[in-house]
Amino acid sequence: RDRHYIFMIRGRLPGGKMTPHQYLAIDEIADEYADQTLRVTTRQAFQLHGVIKEKLKTTLQEINRSLITTLGACGDIVRNVMATPAPDIDGRQAKVQDFADRLSDILLPATKAYHEVWLNGDKVFSGKEQVTNREPLYGPSYLPRKFKVGIALPKDNSIDVYTQDIGLVALFDDDNEIEGFNVIVGGGMGMHHRKEHTFPRLGDDLGYISREKVVEVVKAIIEIQRDYGNRKNRKQARMKYLIHEWGLDKFRKELVARLGYELEAFRALPDFELDLYLGWHRQSNGKWFLGLSVENGRIKDEGELQLKTALRTVVERYETGVRLTPNHNVILTDIAANDKAGIEKAFNRHGVLLDDELSNAIKYSMACPALPTCGLAITESERVFPDIIRDLDEVLHEFGLEDEKLSVRMTGCPNGCSRPYVADLGFVGRSLDKYTIFIGGDPSGTRLNRKYKDLVARENLVDEVTPLLSYFSKNREEGESFGDFWNRVDVEDTELISA
Ligand code: SF4
Repeated sequence: RDRHYIFMIRGRLPGGKMTPHQYLAIDEIADEYADQTLRVTTRQAFQLHGVIKEKLKTTLQEINRSLITTLGACGDIVRNVMATPAPDIDGRQAKVQDFADRLSDILLPATKAYHEVWLNGDKVFSGKEQVTNREPLYGPSYLPRKFKVGIALPKDNSIDVYTQDIGLVALFDDDNEIEGFNVIVGGGMGMHHRKEHTFPRLGDDLGYISREKVVEVVKAIIEIQRDYGNRKNRKQARMKYLIHEWGLDKFRKELVARLGYELEAFRALPDFELDLYLGWHRQSNGKWFLGLSVENGRIKDEGELQLKTALRTVVERYETGVRLTPNHNVILTDIAANDKAGIEKAFNRHGVLLDDELSNAIKYSMACPALPTCGLAITESERVFPDIIRDLDEVLHEFGLEDEKLSVRMTGCPNGCSRPYVADLGFVGRSLDKYTIFIGGDPSGTRLNRKYKDLVARENLVDEVTPLLSYFSKNREEGESFGDFWNRVDVEDTELISA
């Protein structure tokens, strides 16, 4: 008997950018072919859940007809290229987005197979890609594992640049043109419980390269991973393990041998920050953008919160651009000043809270989809997180910590899709209804947290961290974040905490 397989489809959107037409098309496709929801991912893509096997091909064709492709959203190739989700604020963001679009096209596989299998040979999503049967970059066997690329701006680390296989930080000249990039290599979140040789890793600062040469540097790095990445053990196949094994010097030497020149020294950067870009912001063209917090990235209608309808109504009526953010939120762009009040009213009518009406705990938290849609999930995440974060929010209020930008991230397995290993607090699915608690990262994404407790039952997660938050509230220095405090003070001394 034929089983009723259900599929997840993920779209590729460099920098999470969508036109109003594309957004409305995907919204409709979600109703017609999926489970009437849209899931924003932490890599600025969308997922459709609950697509049944019989409708898979039609759904992919419909998505391509909306000029979005799913090619390059999965598989052992470069995934969705991430970029700051903010539309142009000061003349720099749009240039980074343009570069992300170009890089994404350059790094697409050249295979015709996608079009042959899913689109009956038609190529509809773009006119730019070269579609041939040769794979000059990926070779006959593609990469040993998925490969992630993201582009940040100085200060703006909304993409978590140190968690990418290749992280680029765009640097600008006095005319606000991209002059070149700082290159960071070897980041990655995934690990496996009880396998010591697997671990999350932050990327290393490799060097600086001019704009003219950055594409060949990126390609050469990918080729090193293609040629030397571990193909025998998939759990060791990400480029972070190659760099860990070789050391950065050996990796750099191999790169120089391929390029025939060295990278310049890594340029000094201001401290990174996490900006969620929520609320109203002015664009450089005089228009406005509005960042909306999407709890757990799930765009749906449920009870009084009619987020999906509200977004469709506003995008249709005001023809706003859409950006999906790395914190699984949505930004609506290119809004005329006169339309701001009408848009606020529309969201209000549909029960959608704007930035200052939401608690920080909800805004700064993330959860991966996990059960029932992710085949790798060991535990719940998205479905249980709303209750957990609300319980935690009560605790934060009790200790006067409600204004903290505490990043809390949950996953249903150690793969770490919501990037839990750089959060202040990470709850990582461990075994049936049990989690490992990680503590001490920073929301700006520049420090890994550490394992605090293993095998904590889901219903005890908040109780486990409550004394730590209490201790933090009494002993912190002014302005100190929870993660910073954790790293400064020996809070792992539990007697001290309960004293
Ligand atoms: Fe990613 Fe694991 Fe969550 Fe699935 S369960 S979405 S693989 S972190």
